[in-house]
Amino acid sequence: MGCPKALVDSERILTQIRAEGYRVVSSYQDADLVVVNTCGFIDAAVEESLDAIGEALSQNGRVIVTGCLGADDGRIRKTHPSVLAVTGPHAYEEVMCAIHEHLPPPHDPYASLVPSQGVKLTPRHYAYLKISEGCNHRCTFCIIPGMRGDLVSRPIGEVMDEAENLVKAGVRELLIIAQDTSAYGVDEGYRTGFWRGRPLKSNIQTLAEALGELGAWVRLHYVYPYPHVDALIPLMAEGKILSYLDMPLQHGSPRILKAMRRPAAAEKVLERIQRWRAQCPDLTLRSTFIVGFPGETEEDFELLLEFIEEAMLDRVGAFAYSPVEGAAANALPGAVPEAVKQERLERFMARQAEISAARLQGKIGRRLQVLVDEVGEAGATARSISDAPEIDGLVFVDGACNARPGDFLNVEVIDADAHDLWAKIVPG
Ligand code: SF4
Repeated sequence: MGCPKALVDSERILTQIRAEGYRVVSSYQDADLVVVNTCGFIDAAVEESLDAIGEALSQNGRVIVTGCLGADDGRIRKTHPSVLAVTGPHAYEEVMCAIHEHLPPPHDPYASLVPSQGVKLTPRHYAYLKISEGCNHRCTFCIIPGMRGDLVSRPIGEVMDEAENLVKAGVRELLIIAQDTSAYGVDEGYRTGFWRGRPLKSNIQTLAEALGELGAWVRLHYVYPYPHVDALIPLMAEGKILSYLDMPLQHGSPRILKAMRRPAAAEKVLERIQRWRAQCPDLTLRSTFIVGFPGETEEDFELLLEFIEEAMLDRVGAFAYSPVEGAAANALPGAVPEAVKQERLERFMARQAEISAARLQGKIGRRLQVLVDEVGEAGATARSISDAPEIDGLVFVDGACNARPGDFLNVEVIDADAHDLWAKIVPG
């Protein structure tokens, strides 16, 4: 219904519907589902749209509403409470999400060139799940918002469908990623979406809880220490999601954090970390830092060293600052000479290696569950909940030659160095 813009929306929805293998039919009786694209421009258009929804409901019964009038969810549901879903204008992804939810596309392994979980570049047993695109922050060293725009969160139902398909296809570990995972849903005002007919708020806590129901490891990356992240820690303590947080902190000096314009720079991070560890003693914290940011003095750098000593982070990556073309930080005064940057980076990494080694020594004698990545003649190479693939350490398991990638094993830690563990299998 409505203007050419709505017509184009209909065309895009129809194109996607057809591309996904659905058939478009011309009568209510032949359809499994009806999508009504409405207009809400003037009162007459509203009436006409509401009548069209009523007609579709009486003739077919299974109706999804989209378009301009969809922005007034309350009005539609008041008149027609039995509609299956309501989305606003230009909401192609949400319409498709509602269609998938109420009329899942049958996957035909003979006709479809694409597996139901999509084409993956990771091993079969783990997968990255991107929950949003873009970023609302403006860190001075970063040009991502300029390239990818502001935060746009994916509809929660769509994220959950993808996660469920991945787990059904054999994925044992979901790695949740975004530019700022903890900001999930901010752009949508934490709107309520639907998954398996269940209302779910688009926020990171609800999403983490729902993902935790799928039976796979759920690992959160790129989380900032906002107060609302506190609510994730009980989920970790209860084992619903992995007790692991990848939290890029970038520095420990308040002055440099301010110059970096980091999100949550004003939060009392050390206090927060201590509280989290009290609630969830097995929490693994991973972070990344930049040394040699413009204006960083020896005193700032010492503050950074003090910070990592107090925080006792388990996993840390660090980089010497390098000016990215177009980054606001390049205009800041006090560029640190390259040799000083490298010297600080080495001191930083040496200190962190001691901290990491001490943390890992504390694991000797403990029993852990590990996920096997590879199997060789000497045994299996696996990871514990403290180890994200590619960036963290490994657990080398003696024997275990019959294990397969994607198997979970129970092991006892027998040795450790600064980054990795060695372990033997213990009975389940
Ligand atoms: S570094 Fe800052 S601006 Fe860049 S993506 Fe991360 S939070 Fe956003």
